[in-house]
Amino acid sequence: MLKLFNSLTRKIEEFKPITDKAVGLYTCGPTVYNYAHVGNLRTYLFEDFLRRALEYNGYTVKHVMNITDVGHLTGDQDFGEDKMEKEGGSVEEILNLAKKYTDAFLADLKTLNILQAETLAPATEYIPQQIKLIEKLFQKEIAYETELAIYFDVSKFENYGQLTGQKMEDKKVGARSDVVVDKNKKHPADFALWFKLAGKYKNHLLRWDSPWGQGFPGWHIECSAISEHFLGQPFDIHTGGIDHLFPHHTNEIAQSEGANDKPLANYWLHGEHLLIREGRMGKSEGNILTLSALVDKGFNPLAYRYLVLTSHYRSKLNFTEESLTGAQHALNNLYQEISNYDEPKVGCAQFEEDFLNAVNNDLDTPKALAIMWDLIKTDEFPTSAKAQTLFKFDEILGLKMKAVWEAAKVIPDVVHKLIDEREVARKSKDFVRSDELRRAIESNGYIVEDTLDGFRVKKKFDKN
Ligand code: AMP
Ligand code: ZN
Repeated sequence: MLKLFNSLTRKIEEFKPITDKAVGLYTCGPTVYNYAHVGNLRTYLFEDFLRRALEYNGYTVKHVMNITDVGHLTGDQDFGEDKMEKEGGSVEEILNLAKKYTDAFLADLKTLNILQAETLAPATEYIPQQIKLIEKLFQKEIAYETELAIYFDVSKFENYGQLTGQKMEDKKVGARSDVVVDKNKKHPADFALWFKLAGKYKNHLLRWDSPWGQGFPGWHIECSAISEHFLGQPFDIHTGGIDHLFPHHTNEIAQSEGANDKPLANYWLHGEHLLIREGRMGKSEGNILTLSALVDKGFNPLAYRYLVLTSHYRSKLNFTEESLTGAQHALNNLYQEISNYDEPKVGCAQFEEDFLNAVNNDLDTPKALAIMWDLIKTDEFPTSAKAQTLFKFDEILGLKMKAVWEAAKVIPDVVHKLIDEREVARKSKDFVRSDELRRAIESNGYIVEDTLDGFRVKKKFDKN
């Protein structure tokens, strides 16, 4: 039985899907104005563990992710500049930027062996759906118009603080000095659904016609509109990083539930942050690291995946190069261990059961890894059984074990030649030459071990 921590109720709950056909999973996607940093990628990794856990439990998953290419302001709330417009020049340049960073993001996902959502939905391609939703809120008098924007009236939505557990009076929205105050806003916590080409946004380049004149959508409305369009309402699971609890997810819930009088999603899961020097890694904090920077330093990107697996998704994880080096060593050891395993045969049932229990206990990946190592270390089973079970575990862990195991069996021609030469040297008792050849084999990434009945060749896994 899969159990997950639901941010809505702040409890671990048994997962019960809406239908037995497919689980609807919506994950908030990136704002594509720059490269993703490894903090962002920690959240997408956690979502990948979740998706794989659902599939491991036999569910089919219908996975939808938006791509934010308009409306996300630098202030996260209704102030600052549109992040896309801040980086771009003309409309064409902005759209090119969005494409460039979307492609880079998808490449990062692939490098980390993260399964891509079957539906990727850029906000700019779903403007009519967003306008329709705003119109609905307008008709129900939950939204109102000022000279500058269309706002969601939070006083009309009783459960506004449900996700954060905060009362509305406690919200400090609007209290910051850099907020561009719209004098006609009814409550400081009211948030924009649609910005008009007025005031600060008079010259906004990305613009569409709407019943309220030309303008552009607020950040939150895209997720309400896109999730409803592809998954209906309610759907099963909605996820994101912990910073999305407020304002983004709080506002998504207000919009969707306000418009349709039913829950938006049944389970809300949030991943904790990646920290660096004990502070949150973030673009505005100026402390980001990209995946390619880690690869340039010689790390295998899957070492980062391994590092993320070592901590529970609801715990903060402090990133250091030492911890990544530790993860890289562990990954190398894993690859070294499995490289000589026999062809997979009947697996190890008890280990499989323990592993499934760990995964189903709110995605306890640190425990799952510990079980993996227990299996590797035990003498109780032949390597064929270990291989069978480890490859199954890897459906969740995603460390490409089978590919590594297969590749390790293919010895390149140049190494074959060196091995043959070494055999000749050994037989003629030319140990100096034989040692030389052993070193040559090692510098090609392979180890020769002499055994009672001959020798064995293994691929060597070190930093990469
Ligand atoms: P953004 O591109 O800013 O919309 O963020 C994309 C995702 O990354 C969101 O789900 C955020 O919650 C998440 N995120 C941002 N910073 C971090 C961090 N330091 N650690 C983990 N997740 C993060
Ligand atoms: Zn969202």
